[in-house]
Amino acid sequence: MSNYRKIEDDIFQLRLPLPFALNHVQCYLLRGDDGWTIVDTGLNTSAARTGWQETFAALHIAPGDVKQIIITHCHPDHYGLAGWLQEQCRAAGTAPPVFMSSRGITFAEQVWQRYESQIEQMEADFHHCGMTPRQAATVANEVSVVASRTSPHPEYIHPLQAGATIQMGNRQFEMIHTPGHADGQIIFYDAADQLLLCGDHVLNDITPHIGRWPNGDPDPLGRYLTSLRQLSGLAVRLALPGHKTLITRWQERLDELLRHHELRLQHTLNAVGHGATVFEVGQKVFGLENLNVHNLRFAIAETLAHLDLLIIQDRISCRENGVWRYVTNHNYSSGHRVHRDGTENTER
Ligand SMILES: [Zn+2]
Repeated sequence: MSNYRKIEDDIFQLRLPLPFALNHVQCYLLRGDDGWTIVDTGLNTSAARTGWQETFAALHIAPGDVKQIIITHCHPDHYGLAGWLQEQCRAAGTAPPVFMSSRGITFAEQVWQRYESQIEQMEADFHHCGMTPRQAATVANEVSVVASRTSPHPEYIHPLQAGATIQMGNRQFEMIHTPGHADGQIIFYDAADQLLLCGDHVLNDITPHIGRWPNGDPDPLGRYLTSLRQLSGLAVRLALPGHKTLITRWQERLDELLRHHELRLQHTLNAVGHGATVFEVGQKVFGLENLNVHNLRFAIAETLAHLDLLIIQDRISCRENGVWRYVTNHNYSSGHRVHRDGTENTER
């Protein structure tokens, strides 16, 4: 029994299993006069492959009917089956093109196809974060398990251009660059129907992971918050996310996410106190001892993203001596800030 459902007359959602605490990912199928568009693909597991096969059968989609495969962002649960789906269609005669942002394409090459160097860098970073070498190695090595579930890779990925429009099904979508959760994430806005395919940029029930990873662009949290503010005021009747429930309270959810990170920045600042490693900060904010390896990796990356923004805001500093050690800046107190050049200003 395939796990798909109709969202609109021409849009179907397919929920595929993931072997993580977040146990599912949602992909979308858009039907058009000239064929089907697939948006996001799932992680390459046998259960997910079966999910696609059953859905194709139930919706009477022949492999030759797939016009294109669009990936919102490079994370493995969205990108992982793109190559396999392309192969399935090629076996039937036509290989549909796969599309992702050019930043997403570079990231997928760096991280999923050459993951050994990613693991090395991550291991070094985690050691700097205050983990023991053994712990850092165990946590970083989990990347190889995830990376193995993104192969086969598409034969070629065409770049998507933010700002341009793309036809999917019979609809026209504007492509909007929304970094933060993933470098180069693109979301797709159908203004005529106020419908948004929002990837993992905005989610209900959970907050999208915002982490700093090796090979990632700097300050992911700052860029995420800027992007949320830019999306404020966009008329959205219905947003179709990569996980959890459909979003009908668009503006409220944006406001909640902005507030969540304000609070988490404050918790992170409090945890830094007079001095702490990333691991110690993460311990206070997330309770790391209760997390499995996968979630520990994400909690550390999320802690780093918040520490990075606090540094940019001049609220903390990082001292490096084998291990990164963070301290609250003496010149910072809430509401009042003295800059390095001696000028002062008052904050909201
Ligand atoms: Zn996801």
